[in-house]
Amino acid sequence: MLIAGAGMAGLVAAVRARELGLDPVVIEKGTRAGGSMLLSSGVVWRHLEWEDFRADCPLGDESLQRLVWERLDDALAWLVSLGAEPVWEDTENPRTTGKRFDPRALTELLASRVEVQLQTALGAEVEPPVLLATGGFGRRLAEERGLILRANPWSAGDALDWALAQGASVSSGMGEFYGRAMPARPARIGEEDFVRLAQLYGAEARVITDDGHDITPRKVAWHENDLAQLIGPSAWYVVERTNDRIEAARAAGGTVIARDDGRIAVHVSAGVTHTIGGLRVDTNARVVGLDGVWSAGVDAGGIATGGYSSGLAQALVLGLAAAEDASAA
Ligand SMILES: Cc1cc2nc3c(=O)[nH]c(=O)nc-3n(C[C@H](O)[C@H](O)[C@H](O)COP(=O)(O)OP(=O)(O)OC[C@H]3O[C@@H](n4cnc5c(N)ncnc54)[C@H](O)[C@@H]3O)c2cc1C
Repeated sequence: MLIAGAGMAGLVAAVRARELGLDPVVIEKGTRAGGSMLLSSGVVWRHLEWEDFRADCPLGDESLQRLVWERLDDALAWLVSLGAEPVWEDTENPRTTGKRFDPRALTELLASRVEVQLQTALGAEVEPPVLLATGGFGRRLAEERGLILRANPWSAGDALDWALAQGASVSSGMGEFYGRAMPARPARIGEEDFVRLAQLYGAEARVITDDGHDITPRKVAWHENDLAQLIGPSAWYVVERTNDRIEAARAAGGTVIARDDGRIAVHVSAGVTHTIGGLRVDTNARVVGLDGVWSAGVDAGGIATGGYSSGLAQALVLGLAAAEDASAA
């Protein structure tokens, strides 16, 4: 079995496939294994209450949500059984539960158990069985909309294009992304800054467009992913007083203005972390309409549509599901 992508989903699937007696070949387009997982905060989580998952992601596929929600705890126990050491035994958010891992240690652990070949996968010659785990099309979406890319630079929709050419179909949420408000250009944002420069205080801010319109929503979701969708390439957060994240934005060269009314305006731009829509899959991570093709992680779409849920959890659970189904096939 060919596995395209050595991020969270691809590595998990490869390790599980080997456990089950398969001999997967993992092909990675980037210069290293780990994908966006390596850049992440490492919190693998689910909503504590099923109803909250549905309420937060109301347009997502209910059967896939159910799969992630029901299987995550066992999947985390499997990761721990491999030797992954949680740095948090639970999340710090009362609405969610899960574990936090050091992303570098987790990547090294998973990658040490499989062989990863660094080369571009998914040319026309690729044939099933194949698992598509290339991390969605965040780069393409960011470029099309003039947004900041807050993710690995290689997830550009290769799997989506390949599978659609074979007759696959897409999920809901093709225009949505998980992202964060980031300091707008000319702020300098390296991949090591993706977490600390996120402008996560939007619930206290007025949101103003470049031409001065106040577009502050009546209610802001706890994760602020709704604000990331709203602000687009350029908007302003206006707040009463500064905070650490604003000072970090200023230090990185972002535009922070002291207004005549005493308030502070921060120039922000949406940063795309991953796409929410993607390939339509079933609960065995099979790509609907294609034989011998699975998709896991955020290549598989439609789970968090209308909101936000853990990309790492989606990658872990669907990666396991794909490997188990492939080994039974
Ligand atoms: C700053 C930051 C913080 C985050 N924090 C969290 C968090 O705390 N909790 C959480 O749940 N999520 C978090 N995420 C999101 C999470 O990292 C992703 O949702 C997750 O990594 C998705 O897993 P994946 O396997 O689908 O993709 P990835 O882990 O990105 O892996 C995809 C891999 O496929 C490779 N690839 C692309 N195209 C090809 C191709 N054609 N052939 C071969 N390989 C290819 C890519 O190079 C990459 O290595 C965060 C992300 C970032 C950037």
